[in-house]
Amino acid sequence: MTYSIKRAAVIGSGVMGSGIAAHLANAGLSVTMFDRVPDSLTDKEKKQGFTLEDKKVRYRIVEESKKKLLKQKPSPITSKKSLELIQVANLEDDLALLSEADWIVEVIVENLEAKKELFKKVDAHRRTGAIISSNTSGISVEAMIADSSEDMQEHFLGTHFFNPPRYLKLLEVIPTDKTRTEVLSFMKTFGEDVLGKGVVEAKDTPNFIANRIGTYGLLVTVQEMEKQGLSVGEVDSITGPLIGRPKSATFRTLDVVGIDTFYHVANNVYHHVSDPKEKGIFTVPDFLKQMIDKGWIGAKSGKGFYEKKKDRTIVEINPSTLEYQERKKLKTAAVELAKQEKGVKRKMKALVNQKGDKASDFIWSIIKPVLLYSADLVGEIADDVVSIDDAMKWGFGWELGPFEIWDAIGVSAAVERIQDEDTAVPSWVLDMLEEGNETFYKQEKGDSYFYHEDGYKQKEVNKKEISLAAIKEQKGVIKKNTGASLIDIGDGVALLEFHSRSNAIGLDIIQMVNESIEEVNKNYKGLVIGNQGKNFCVGANLAMMLMEAQDDNIFELDLVIRQFQNMTMNIKYSDRPVVAAPFNMTLGGGAEVSLPAAAIQASPETYMGLVEFGVGLIPGGGGTKELYLKELRNLPEGVNIDLTKIANDVFEKVAMAKVSTSAKEAMENGYLNKNDRISRNPDHVLYDAKKRVLSLFNEGYEKPVREKIPVVGEAGYAAMVMGAKSLHYGGYASEHDLKIAEKLAYVLSGGRIKEGTEIDEQVMLDLEREAFLSLIAEPLTQQRMQHMLVKGKPLRN
Ligand code: NAD
Repeated sequence: MTYSIKRAAVIGSGVMGSGIAAHLANAGLSVTMFDRVPDSLTDKEKKQGFTLEDKKVRYRIVEESKKKLLKQKPSPITSKKSLELIQVANLEDDLALLSEADWIVEVIVENLEAKKELFKKVDAHRRTGAIISSNTSGISVEAMIADSSEDMQEHFLGTHFFNPPRYLKLLEVIPTDKTRTEVLSFMKTFGEDVLGKGVVEAKDTPNFIANRIGTYGLLVTVQEMEKQGLSVGEVDSITGPLIGRPKSATFRTLDVVGIDTFYHVANNVYHHVSDPKEKGIFTVPDFLKQMIDKGWIGAKSGKGFYEKKKDRTIVEINPSTLEYQERKKLKTAAVELAKQEKGVKRKMKALVNQKGDKASDFIWSIIKPVLLYSADLVGEIADDVVSIDDAMKWGFGWELGPFEIWDAIGVSAAVERIQDEDTAVPSWVLDMLEEGNETFYKQEKGDSYFYHEDGYKQKEVNKKEISLAAIKEQKGVIKKNTGASLIDIGDGVALLEFHSRSNAIGLDIIQMVNESIEEVNKNYKGLVIGNQGKNFCVGANLAMMLMEAQDDNIFELDLVIRQFQNMTMNIKYSDRPVVAAPFNMTLGGGAEVSLPAAAIQASPETYMGLVEFGVGLIPGGGGTKELYLKELRNLPEGVNIDLTKIANDVFEKVAMAKVSTSAKEAMENGYLNKNDRISRNPDHVLYDAKKRVLSLFNEGYEKPVREKIPVVGEAGYAAMVMGAKSLHYGGYASEHDLKIAEKLAYVLSGGRIKEGTEIDEQVMLDLEREAFLSLIAEPLTQQRMQHMLVKGKPLRN
């Protein structure tokens, strides 16, 4: 049987249900979102004379959930249009709709009886062959459907999303003994290729993988904090990025998750395990229960481990008095030493190896139990070490999974220390060392292996997940300088990887782009511009430009801008196709590099915008021109071109420094157009971009013909400036904003010429450059640049 999912039903529209429905709609599925019919009227409904039979009441719960999707931050939807794909339904009047769903996912309250009851209804209404799943955090999936029909059992599994579903990469899939293998493998591929998730197969055990180990680690941390007399803030200061964990570290993470939710998850394991030691760890400390009783459950209630006071200072709770106190940080020699090290593996090793140091001892005391617990659970909760590491990285945002940490600090050294401390090490780890195998992972001839049941097993490679690090290790680079590397990614395609600080564009990158295009035009079918850093590119090197500007080196700056413009023109007029592969922040110069490419292959999470206005400038590297051209080209053929509308539109976007909140929105905003594509999985972007290069090449790619640009001229200029002036008079724009806006309007209108005149691209580039240079010489612009560099946010002056 072959499966396909076009229409889904999501049952339960609470925190997770609505988030999952949104994510499915983001992926283009039609979704019917169900919830209960309320059993009582609100006061308002009573006053308005409604009864429980009125439609407005019967759909109230689910309608309200749908409405909330628009307000939540970060947004669960990638475009307002996603909402159009979500139809609402209730569990009494609309059960028949279940028969239309190819996949039904249950996301109701975490209660076995409620879930069982619901699945009876589902069984009666689903169509044979439809896939069913539960999003339970930890109840046995097998137990939920023990009484269901054979066909339902064969098509049933757990699909455990993490909150928030759009942003967290992990999707645990949990088959039962009865789940058909083809259903499991279909859902794994669907999860990766359509929903863009990192899928890990888990076994049907309490809390599955990530929540089992993650909760254990969190509870150990709380207990050790109490034992060693550290404060909440002190623990957070060393359990975040220093050890490869998110900035929210331990307690701020718990505040975000909700201490009540954490309590339920921990309690679930407590009730399902029998080992007294394990039960001991999963016993939630008293002070946490007291916090829950008081309603101090974290962000959703306004306070938890932390509280933001009226004067905006943040205070931390003292677990023994339950009073809030000044926030503290732990600073020790080991912490300083670790900070000096490069990369989390070295940081971790340096930190753990300083026995006797307060921070070092604390980290060891919380890492050691997690390493041992994870090793103990291999085989029980997951098949292998890779599944456990992936689950922790993708579900909890750890940079390293437990076994990777173990490798980083040295397996035999750690084992020796653990044994010296009279703690037992799982026998399979000792066997591994005995056999002379010193690590859980190893690399050989460019392939990755992991230790599994008395030998190394090759790690499966998903060909859609190109790893630049692996390619570079195997094949080296074609050429490289401080800012970027040109890499051969196979099949005749080259890739230019930025790797400067924050991937900001300086002269080194400009030089490499030019050299790469020359090389590609000679020896390759095309070029991908992409990388696997934190962000695609945050813009041009602001610090360098500010320095030149402060030194009055306008001549130097003129040269830099000319070179930047030549680079973007090279990208545009390359003989071989150039495909830009943006992801995450793609700002200013990052957008200017992408816009002229033959095509853009964007990650679904692409935050693109020409943000120069925020630092008192306008895009000077061809961005203003290209955004204008992009909109112009996107018009369907035969449509009357309204130049004024396009110019105004681009003017507004640049003047507001608008950044898209997703690739879909970038498409709606005109940063991408019908020629561009959006990948479904962020990890597949480079693969998709490479495919795009090859298909452009195979179609016989020809570089664009240099055409003239029709502009709005004087009349259009006046209209744009008038708009800006009215904002200025209204108090919405400063004097300096108005000045920048006038320059921008001048560039977009093509200068003081007649409306409809066609100008050469170079004319607009010259206008951009002149505007840029005159603005950067302004003290108020330099203040804005300085502010951005120091504070990381725009200054309004
Ligand atoms: P929630 O309380 O926000 O939402 C639950 C929804 O189920 C509500 O809309 C409610 O109206 C509905 N509901 C309650 N009882 C029902 C019943 N008897 N029949 C039908 N509908 C009913 O809860 P949530 O956080 O969205 O959790 C839903 C599921 O997802 C749970 O199984 C939970 O364990 C799991 N989960 C939660 C998280 C999380 O972070 N919140 C993460 C992963 C998994």
